[in-house]
Amino acid sequence: MARKTHPKLTIGMDLGGTKIAAGLCRDGEVLHKVVVPTHATKGFDAVIEAMAGAARQAMGDTDPKGIVGVGVGAAGQIDSRTGAVLYAPNLNWRHAPLGQSLSEALGLPVRVVNDVRAATMAEWKFGAGKGLHSFVNIFLGTGVGSGLVLNGTLCEGSTNSAGEIGHICLDPAGPPCGCGHSGCFEAYSSGRGIENEVKRRLLAGVASSMRDKVGDHLDKVTGHLIGQAAREGDPLALDVLAWAGRHLGLVLANLHTLLNPQKILLGGGIMALAEFFLPAAREAMHRHILPVADRGEEMLGRARFETEAVFLGGSALFA
Ligand SMILES: [Zn+2]
Repeated sequence: MARKTHPKLTIGMDLGGTKIAAGLCRDGEVLHKVVVPTHATKGFDAVIEAMAGAARQAMGDTDPKGIVGVGVGAAGQIDSRTGAVLYAPNLNWRHAPLGQSLSEALGLPVRVVNDVRAATMAEWKFGAGKGLHSFVNIFLGTGVGSGLVLNGTLCEGSTNSAGEIGHICLDPAGPPCGCGHSGCFEAYSSGRGIENEVKRRLLAGVASSMRDKVGDHLDKVTGHLIGQAAREGDPLALDVLAWAGRHLGLVLANLHTLLNPQKILLGGGIMALAEFFLPAAREAMHRHILPVADRGEEMLGRARFETEAVFLGGSALFA
């Protein structure tokens, strides 16, 4: 007989290259959160130990019997059926049995998904994607990632690489990308892409107040500096952000044409500069969208969660 139960307690974890975050969660609410260093260079066993320690700290006095499971979002290519990390360049891991090892360390069931998919789960279950059956969650950070929910299913793809939107090619003759190809979306509209374009234009002699601030030290060109320059009306900073926005707009139009989602949610650190690139993105999106299906304005939305998205999404794997 069905009976009403209290919302389940779960541990959500975010495994990053430098930090591990763990949260004791109940139905999208973070009850207690812990952040510890990853120490990735110490190797797999040390990272598992650090993760188990963070999970125990997050649990505090809670009886482990009351915890339904531990859900982990981790960067890289993950086999969510086995919980193994197939490839994680930031940790230098290949075929690492993360789920199994953490489960043995904690004596609790563990599930693992890719971090952007975890963030998408958080939006879907608790945030701006709640109640939707089809949406795209785009994360604009140092790089670009996305999670796809289509017809009520979180897409993983046949080899767990669905949603690698950062490497959609927008121009084979475009700027180089970290993946080895050229003209990838990430080479335009990510934090790294924007920084690199500012550097290229400074090197080419384009005038900018940023030149006065960094001199010949182009490594000092950061997202923070570019944002500051844009706020002061610096034409180079504004031009590059509009350039990033136009390429984002192309991707939004293409996603809309391909998938016809209910929403496309935008999130990530770059959204702090949205006022400088979103107008160009909207304009390009409208220009390239398939007219018969144009519902662009109501389609665009903002992701609700920021730093807590990944571990909240991890917690949702057992909710
Ligand atoms: Zn690429």
